[in-house]
Amino acid sequence: MAGILVALGGNALHRAGGRGSWDEARGQMRLAVGVLAEIAALGEPLVISHGNGPQVGALLRQNELAAREIPPRPMDVLGAETQGQIGYLIQTELTPALRRRRVDRSVLTVISRTEVSADDPAFSHPSKPVGRYYPEDEARVLRKQYGWAMQYDGARGGWRRIVPSPRPVRWIEGTAVRTLLESSVGSSWIPVVAGGGGIPVVRKPDGTYEGVEAVIDKDLAASLVARELGVHTLAIVTDVPGAAISFGKRGERWLTEVSRRELADYLKRGEFGDGSMGPKVAAGLEFLDGGGHRFVITDIPSLARALRGEAGTRVEA
Ligand code: ADP
Ligand code: MG
Repeated sequence: MAGILVALGGNALHRAGGRGSWDEARGQMRLAVGVLAEIAALGEPLVISHGNGPQVGALLRQNELAAREIPPRPMDVLGAETQGQIGYLIQTELTPALRRRRVDRSVLTVISRTEVSADDPAFSHPSKPVGRYYPEDEARVLRKQYGWAMQYDGARGGWRRIVPSPRPVRWIEGTAVRTLLESSVGSSWIPVVAGGGGIPVVRKPDGTYEGVEAVIDKDLAASLVARELGVHTLAIVTDVPGAAISFGKRGERWLTEVSRRELADYLKRGEFGDGSMGPKVAAGLEFLDGGGHRFVITDIPSLARALRGEAGTRVEA
């Protein structure tokens, strides 16, 4: 299928330094919907995915503050809540932007589950920090009370909860969304899927699925979704205009058109940040290895130009 998957990073949804209000979230989303509508106007299948780091952090804190009255929800449920609120935000803001361009397409949010393997080594090595920083005495109580794994962050001088980040294996709602996109009315829908990497679930012996306390890297999940749908283009949108080598150092160079082999070499040499640019590049390479045609890393202002081959970091299979 021709088509584009746009994976929006935290920055498209959350203004750094803001208070995290809903008005701010709407304002931030309004900055993104113009270019999304411009892409939607091309008429190709368009699918949107997004991160949820700040939003899930806020829900964890809400749960914590309300715990004496309302029992805290597990992480998979919080993941579902963030898909709901961010999907609704995209529906609310993208719809008028489509109308302004006279694009007759509708936005549809699909609560998405991502299967992970119960044997994934990540479950015995939690690595992904979530939520706020705690002083040591509180960290000790949380570890005992909830069995949380806690890790000390020297730079910020506090303890944080860490959860497993297993590899995404299968997007459970993928078949339904593919069927929709391939149908005669497919191009009139813009599905929002696999938010926050999808709700992590494991398959039980009876074939049903159960949520687990983990988070899935949204870039790796977007790559999986793009391959399962068979779209040609994966565009990862973040808060920098592309990937750089010697990032933040002397001799920094922003990559434009780059070959797969070259990008893979830079990744191996550790040019890309571990929990940030690294997974994006890895996600793109997996997408191209899995049959994808074009992979782009860019930011919101450059997205349309990047898709025309005029900006961003671009790799063609
Ligand atoms: P997102 O919310 O979009 O996933 P991340 O913070 O995870 O955002 O990743 C984007 C960040 O990656 C950039 O803001 C930048 O600080 C960082 N980064 C690390 N290495 C590189 C690199 N080599 N080139 C560009 N950005 C990099
Ligand atoms: Mg990230």
